[in-house]
Amino acid sequence: MKEHLKHPIFSIISDIVSTENLESYVIGGFVRDIFLKRESKDIDVVVIGSGIELAQKVAAKAGNPKVSIFKNFGTAMLKFKDLEIEFVGARKESYNRNSRKPIVENGSLEDDQKRRDFTINALALSLHKDNFGELLDPFGGIDDLNNKIIKTPMDPMITFSDDPLRMMRAIRFATQLNFKISDVTFEAIKENKERIHIISKERIIEELNKIVMSKKPSIGFKLLDESGLLQIIFPEFHKLKGRETRNGISHKDNFYHTLEVLDQLVPHSDNLWLRWSALLHDIAKPNTKKFIKGIGWTFHAHNFVGEKMVPRIFKNMKLPLNEKMKFVQKMVLLHMRPIVLAQEEVTDSAVRRLLFDAGDDIDELMKLCEADITSKNEEKVKRFLDNFQLVRRKLKEVEEKDAVRNFQPPIDGQEIIDTFNLSPCKTIGDIKLAIKDAILDGVIPNEREAAYQFMIEKGKELGLTPVINKKNK
Ligand code: ATP
Ligand code: MG
Repeated sequence: MKEHLKHPIFSIISDIVSTENLESYVIGGFVRDIFLKRESKDIDVVVIGSGIELAQKVAAKAGNPKVSIFKNFGTAMLKFKDLEIEFVGARKESYNRNSRKPIVENGSLEDDQKRRDFTINALALSLHKDNFGELLDPFGGIDDLNNKIIKTPMDPMITFSDDPLRMMRAIRFATQLNFKISDVTFEAIKENKERIHIISKERIIEELNKIVMSKKPSIGFKLLDESGLLQIIFPEFHKLKGRETRNGISHKDNFYHTLEVLDQLVPHSDNLWLRWSALLHDIAKPNTKKFIKGIGWTFHAHNFVGEKMVPRIFKNMKLPLNEKMKFVQKMVLLHMRPIVLAQEEVTDSAVRRLLFDAGDDIDELMKLCEADITSKNEEKVKRFLDNFQLVRRKLKEVEEKDAVRNFQPPIDGQEIIDTFNLSPCKTIGDIKLAIKDAILDGVIPNEREAAYQFMIEKGKELGLTPVINKKNK
């Protein structure tokens, strides 16, 4: 394994621990990722002794980078070139039932490996010159890497009860790496699901977002569902599950549909918030579902209701309540617009209105909408996608011609007031709206001159007389 420890930081650490005759190892994710040929930027180093002291000695030899010390945790972190290295003394942990904060004592390497969450995360490589690069793998982590298995080094019932965040981590790693969680380990997650309540929402969402950002997020959501965790951490999403049949007519299962949409979006976007928009686009379907005789299942206004549901969901899950949330709301609200357009005749006017409503987010909206086309009927999918190409072409044409993406009215309220010598009143708004509609409907071009003439005409229609006929610049 020596060839993977070529970075100069390892020889600095090795020199120090060999001279002082200390035992020290690279451990955890960095070692796992060597075997998986994944890149990793953070390194964990464990030493039998004091992590803080070792970090300080390493820093002194490495040109004195800043050492951040976390006394309470007995750890120290330093940044060296492109890497972040965390030093910690090997420890033994025991837990109290109501908290995920362990009671910590000094321990051996094996004690330290035992407290790790999964066998694949418990691999260690020695840094001492006597056995530099030697792999220490007491729990069969390499076999599990080869067999693509996530399992705990110790009894999973205890591992998960001690720190229930590990249940989220298990599902997150299974998703990111496309590994299977061993049966015994998965059973223990089911048994311990209620323990997730002692974990902070912030920690949970961090893991959930890693699932959302993975290559195939549906793997994680299905595991969350199967384990029972989904219902606890994201009940609104769990509610999408199931199909109902009436008079022989069934609606689709919106849980699996949504996951398909999210998976389909992945290759087109790594915008976390667009991925959240995919997750939430049909979130109001269970609440708006109705069976109407002669028509079948309807989900009337589920986009409006969905838009209204987003803030509460974001608040409950400790997602940011800022412009990211507003973006998700907008996507949920508009998610059917391009597809409706593609089903009907694609008129310039409809395209202009869509551009006006979506503004700069039009490209993201189109990606979401395209991913939303899921059907077993290949013919149907092809027809939709073809129509979509037409919508995209029209969008481009109209945008080039009329520049309505970030529409600013060419005539403002003040100018209407001045032209007709009005005091503030509703008529001003009416004229503004008429100008906007005329532009969006293609009655007049998106230009000042035309808008000015249109305003004069409109004013006359409303019985107004222009008092100053200027500003025709
Ligand atoms: P990634 O960096 O890709 O998220 P990682 O495995 O490196 O994955 P970190 O959170 O960086 O995860 O943790 C580093 C190592 O610390 C892990 O490999 C594991 O050995 C250990 N570890 C982290 N969190 C826990 C936990 N909750 N319980 C037990 N061990 C943990
Ligand atoms: Mg890591």
